[in-house]
Amino acid sequence: MITKELVELMSSTIGVSSTTGVGTEFWLELINHTSLQDSTLNTIPPKLEFKEQNNTIQRVLLYVEDNPANLMLVEQIIEIKPDISILTASDGNMGIALARAHLPDAILLDINLPGISGFETLKILREDPSTAHIPVLAISANAMPQDGDKALKAGYWFYLVKIQRA
Ligand code: MN
Repeated sequence: MITKELVELMSSTIGVSSTTGVGTEFWLELINHTSLQDSTLNTIPPKLEFKEQNNTIQRVLLYVEDNPANLMLVEQIIEIKPDISILTASDGNMGIALARAHLPDAILLDINLPGISGFETLKILREDPSTAHIPVLAISANAMPQDGDKALKAGYWFYLVKIQRA
């Protein structure tokens, strides 16, 4: 659900096709947005205010990322969704501590992190029975197909690529 909302906020499309006994394929159609091409402070839209609804189910997303500009961009995207709250961590160990304490609904995990990598962070999350069930989405600047394959084989649930243009 969180992936779908993130994707739709970027005016893009997500779909799924499933064949019994064969597997499930998720696909994303991402549109290159001028506003998303440069994740600097200047391009972030002004804050929007929404009333919190009492009957809304609150979902929690944990974002583990060491790049402050990327953190801020995703925080701004999530801020316009009153039903999703975001927790952020700037390294893997902090991310693991937050995941154990708050049991988020999904984790967006950068791969290149200071200290332990996203892959090591994922392994620890998967081995801990309290966090093993949480879907973890990789987010990386590595856009080669083999990077995505490696991430999915390591147990990431989804692979998102950061696109930055000059
Ligand atoms: Mn990074």
